[in-house]
Amino acid sequence: MRPLRLPALVTLSALAFVAPACRATSPVPPASPATAAPVRLPRGTPETHDIRTGPGVTRTLMLSDYHPSLAGTPGDTPVYVLEGKEPGGTCVVVGGTHQNELAGIFAATVLVETARVSRGRLVVVPRANNSAVTLRDEKRPAPEWVVIASPSTPPSASRRFRFGSRLTNPLHQGAPDPAEVRLPGASKALPGYEARNLDRAFPGSAEGPLTRQVAFAIVELLRREKADLAFDLHEAPPASRLSWMLVSHPRGLDLAAEAILELDAAGLPMKLEASDEGFRGLSHREWGDATPVLSFLVETPNPNQVEGARDVEPVSHPEYPLASRIAAQLQTVLTVVATHAASAPPERRIELAPGPDYRLIGRKGLGEFLLW
Ligand SMILES: [Zn+2]
Repeated sequence: MRPLRLPALVTLSALAFVAPACRATSPVPPASPATAAPVRLPRGTPETHDIRTGPGVTRTLMLSDYHPSLAGTPGDTPVYVLEGKEPGGTCVVVGGTHQNELAGIFAATVLVETARVSRGRLVVVPRANNSAVTLRDEKRPAPEWVVIASPSTPPSASRRFRFGSRLTNPLHQGAPDPAEVRLPGASKALPGYEARNLDRAFPGSAEGPLTRQVAFAIVELLRREKADLAFDLHEAPPASRLSWMLVSHPRGLDLAAEAILELDAAGLPMKLEASDEGFRGLSHREWGDATPVLSFLVETPNPNQVEGARDVEPVSHPEYPLASRIAAQLQTVLTVVATHAASAPPERRIELAPGPDYRLIGRKGLGEFLLW
């Protein structure tokens, strides 16, 4: 399946459709019971993605550094900072808001392990909803682990990543699901389990259920780090109109439209939608409303997200191979970053040092772009 192509000349108003992310039907998170609190992990950390710290990482923080109440909970998660020698702007990349959308998790991982920044900073959160790593999606059964072999022949090692869920583990949430989820201004209610959907929980709250606190911490990160650009990396079922989509907060539309034309010229046609004011709780909408950041969401097609599909092979699907989806995610993010750098003042630019050509991940395989 190929994405729709944008006409060569297109006006911004024509691009500005309404965009909920990942098949949203309506907004957002629940009223949090005042007594709700996330559970503490009794000991250790559940086994999770094997993400390694690359040579470009200059500091590793935890999300709880931005919201101390998360420390010791299943919602805490690493934050990798890659700083350039030249001062500049800050770009935040978030993967794993939905832990069954593999390409976004791997795209963030590839940046952590291989990117080097020359100007400004890259801040990467590869497993944003860390609790969702531990939950299986019973409607869309998939292997528990995704295994990536080393590129040597024969493979000499392998890397393991969990195949998680769209939702926070109910055992970690600290509150039962409400009967329904609704925020002021929402056009209609969502099912109660969506209280555990991180991408319906922004801008979050400092107290209450785990999912809301994780959302709060991510917005705190954007605010304190004075983020210029932010990306939330997702996937959608291949038949969804959201597949091959860049969603932009309205303030980022001019930049996004310019980047879309660049991507099209480079052979990666992505569609563009604007986030709607009426859909609350979604990252691209709330990040841009709560902070000065220009916020975006990227969607590639994921054959594992088809309801009722069983045992779809997650890595080497013939039509939607994982490596090609990862390449598309990275090319989209880095094209927006480069387009921004072309016109932003030096103190706000983010520039990567020469490194791997991520467009080749689909051809060479993911193993070539991980640390071994
Ligand atoms: Zn998603």
